[in-house]
Amino acid sequence: MSDLSQRADELRRTLNRYAHEYYVLDAPTVPDAEYDRLFQELQAIELAHPELRTVDSPTLRVGGQPLPQFEPVTHQIPMLSIRTETDVSEQGALAFDASVRKELELSASDAAIEYAAELKFDGLAISLRYEDGVLVQAATRGDGATGEDVTQNIRTIKQIPLRLRESAGGAVLVPKVLEVRGEVYMRRDDFEQLNARQRELGEKTFVNPRNTAAGAVRQLDPKITAARPLSFYGYGLGVVEGWDLQPDTHSGILAALAEFGFPVCDIREVVQGGVGLVAYHARVAALRDDLPFDIDGVVYKVNSIALQRQLGFRTREPRWAVAHKYPAQEALTVVEAIDIQV
Ligand code: NAD
Repeated sequence: MSDLSQRADELRRTLNRYAHEYYVLDAPTVPDAEYDRLFQELQAIELAHPELRTVDSPTLRVGGQPLPQFEPVTHQIPMLSIRTETDVSEQGALAFDASVRKELELSASDAAIEYAAELKFDGLAISLRYEDGVLVQAATRGDGATGEDVTQNIRTIKQIPLRLRESAGGAVLVPKVLEVRGEVYMRRDDFEQLNARQRELGEKTFVNPRNTAAGAVRQLDPKITAARPLSFYGYGLGVVEGWDLQPDTHSGILAALAEFGFPVCDIREVVQGGVGLVAYHARVAALRDDLPFDIDGVVYKVNSIALQRQLGFRTREPRWAVAHKYPAQEALTVVEAIDIQV
């Protein structure tokens, strides 16, 4: 037992260091697959021995501390994590469906659950607040409860509307308050071009699109952000006030976000039951190398907002969503640290 307790302690210290390098400094020193492997080992120990779980465990926390250089933003609705399914085979999708059905106390004869399946973009989560249709604040996720105010930087990203578009005929009326949550990321071709430019200038090249995008958003000088080619996909909502026609499905919300003028990824599907999730996972597996941007797996979300509410949350993640990854392609190599440049 003391060996196990020692191992849990070692994992916590290592994971907390990796999380700080990744979330706070945007400069990871190990590949994600290695972080995920250690995270799952700690989770398994804590599940078997809850008495070994401590309050500083990375399994209980979201992201990293916001940097003091930025104004803090309190998230009225926390920006949570998503549980990662440990089984990367198709069984992982079936296991998630089974867990949802169990939570909802459904029997085999009950109808299949409808899911919204989408890509897990590999970038930085952002919450965009619109009041009367105008972008007033943009914040990072930070530790989930408090993020960093990066409004001036986000304003430089051309794909993010400064004002919501009112759809023709007023079918989608602009809400009083709308927080749109989504991912800022960098396309692979933009990343290559950026590095080509760095080489021409004799400057240091960047390590990967994810950390380059995250580092670009968390700059103190918006001019630096503006010089980096960033893209955005919307995937959800935070606070909403005064939206009479708010859709009652996740897929309906994504369609409305597209109407408001946000880029929403087309590689999304509404599917029925675990079988539908398996088919989506396989479809994305076949095309992921050819995508113009990196992904970190796929995400399955229960499509009905009423069922999402019924399912609710665990400490750091909703019960109605899961991330399903693909077998890791990265070898364990030490990633060259990049400067945060703030
Ligand atoms: P997470 O696994 O908690 O998932 C939630 C995040 O997914 C959201 O905040 C959002 O940014 C993102 N996301 C992308 N597409 C989405 C979609 N369609 N719908 C909803 N959310 C979507 O995210 P995390 O805590 O940022 O962890 C991501 C990965 O970071 C982990 O899998 C881990 O491998 C990696 N990580 C690596 C290191 C390292 O040292 N290499 C350290 C910490 C974390």
